[in-house]
Amino acid sequence: MKTLRLILGDQLNRDHSWFETPREDVLYLMAEMRQETDYVLHHIQKVVGFFASMRNFESELQSLGHEVRYFRISDPRNPQNLPDLIQRILEKEPIGRFEYQFPDEYRLDIQLRNFCNSLEIPWQAVDSEHFYTERDELTTFFKGKKQLLMESFYRMMRRKHGVLMEGSQPLGGKWNYDRQNRNAWKGTPAVPSVFTTGRDVSDLLEEIRKAGIRTLGSIDPKKFDWTTSAEEARALLSYFCEHLLPFFGAFQDAMHTGEKYLFHSRISFALNSKMISPAEVVDTVESYHRKNPEKVHISETEGFIRQILGWREYMRGVYWREMPGYSEKNYLKNLNPLPKFFWTAETGMNCLRHAISQSLETAYAHHIQRLMITGNFALLVQANPEEVDRWYLGIYADALEWVQLPNTRGMSQFADGGIVGTKPYISSANYIHKMSNYCKDCQYDPKERLGPKACPFNALYWNFLHAKRDVLADNPRMGMMYRLLDKKDPEELEALTQRAAQVIEHPEQF
Ligand code: FAD
Ligand code: SF4
Repeated sequence: MKTLRLILGDQLNRDHSWFETPREDVLYLMAEMRQETDYVLHHIQKVVGFFASMRNFESELQSLGHEVRYFRISDPRNPQNLPDLIQRILEKEPIGRFEYQFPDEYRLDIQLRNFCNSLEIPWQAVDSEHFYTERDELTTFFKGKKQLLMESFYRMMRRKHGVLMEGSQPLGGKWNYDRQNRNAWKGTPAVPSVFTTGRDVSDLLEEIRKAGIRTLGSIDPKKFDWTTSAEEARALLSYFCEHLLPFFGAFQDAMHTGEKYLFHSRISFALNSKMISPAEVVDTVESYHRKNPEKVHISETEGFIRQILGWREYMRGVYWREMPGYSEKNYLKNLNPLPKFFWTAETGMNCLRHAISQSLETAYAHHIQRLMITGNFALLVQANPEEVDRWYLGIYADALEWVQLPNTRGMSQFADGGIVGTKPYISSANYIHKMSNYCKDCQYDPKERLGPKACPFNALYWNFLHAKRDVLADNPRMGMMYRLLDKKDPEELEALTQRAAQVIEHPEQF
């Protein structure tokens, strides 16, 4: 009898102990399924990226001598959902045991657990051997604490894993160099040419189209840019260290119409599909800094490592601490629809047009575009977090619920009432003007608050503070904002709320 081992599409971890030596008594199972393509409207590059990476992973396992049953999306024998798929193999093959790796998404966790509870053969769920932390490590760390401060979690992680440490002290003398990392980018230093795999995915694209899968966004099938194997992910990481890391921190919050990626790594898809591990990324970056301290300063290195060792593990911990209730949180009671231009980029607001059209074209936007352009606007128009979640979960190639949800509901929309962030990330046009060149060619004036040329973000910002006074005014970190609001002339405030209402009711007119 054989053991059947399930490999999910985001479990492409070649270094997992399962694959140490090929065994004749183990059969691996992989499948492209409608269950996964249809739970939300995904970007076409995300679907292609996952399927291409899964196919590469299957070939690799086969070439290493492992036995794999792989079901393509077009295979008529493919039942297109997990329980039927596993059941089918159990009926057809001599299987005496079933094993799977813990999924990272709650819906899959429940689905597999329910399925296994009805099995008559022994089964076991094992670790995916990808993350630094266990699912409940953050919960244990913050036990009895009211606030889940990312910074204290991050310092514990640095100490525990000996990352960027000199004995018991942080390398360079400081734990956090964020204050040095807030520059706008004005054309220098030059951004190196973009790393590309240039893979031709035309055949796969045709197969997906023929299967009738609904998707969003566009794709150039002759030049597919996402990494789809561990080798490509490593090449991307080397490229990042050599060319982008030297400026990563300094321009990490910058935005520019001429540069989609600036100095960001674009490694999230490879990480989230587990083609590369966070430890490998962090260790490579740290050792690059230690070997080249003049070229890559500690501020750049620490800024990058914090994102992975800190934020990424922290978000995963929050997800498992708070699910299932987290996906229903709506602390600010926001119920407005998300403007339709999120799906088309057809808006006169330059920052939103750029951030959204880039997302539709590339399935990518960097953190500040997600947080301070699209996320900020969605929050200011008080959009329903359900709709906001669906947009973020669909549009980005790296979007998987365990990381998308705490970032969207928590950090960006403050729908969790302050579990992830201590205050909502909102801004008027001022911040966008400072950190980007979006306002330069915009039909709106970032400095105007009222009148036809006034930037809509400005009225929305004051209106939001006014509308949410009951729940936000007592937040100590909002004190300054409310003091400024209180100084506003009542007539001006009235005019601002009227303009904001126009934007909220008729976003298509702006
Ligand atoms: P870089 O800027 O080069 O950063 C390096 C890595 O750090 C990233 O690849 C990522 O793995 C990690 N990282 C950075 N910030 C975060 C963060 N806040 N949370 C978790 N990991 C982080 N990230 C996702 O991986 N999937 C998502 O679905 C996702 N949705 C988001 C939604 C919103 C509203 C916001 C504000 C952020 C979201 N993020 C998400 C976090 C972040 O924007 C992306 O990880 C990052 O833009 C990916 O691009 P990069 O690889 O070039 O990142
Ligand atoms: Fe965006 Fe306002 Fe600047 Fe235009 S003026 S780009 S709408 S912030």
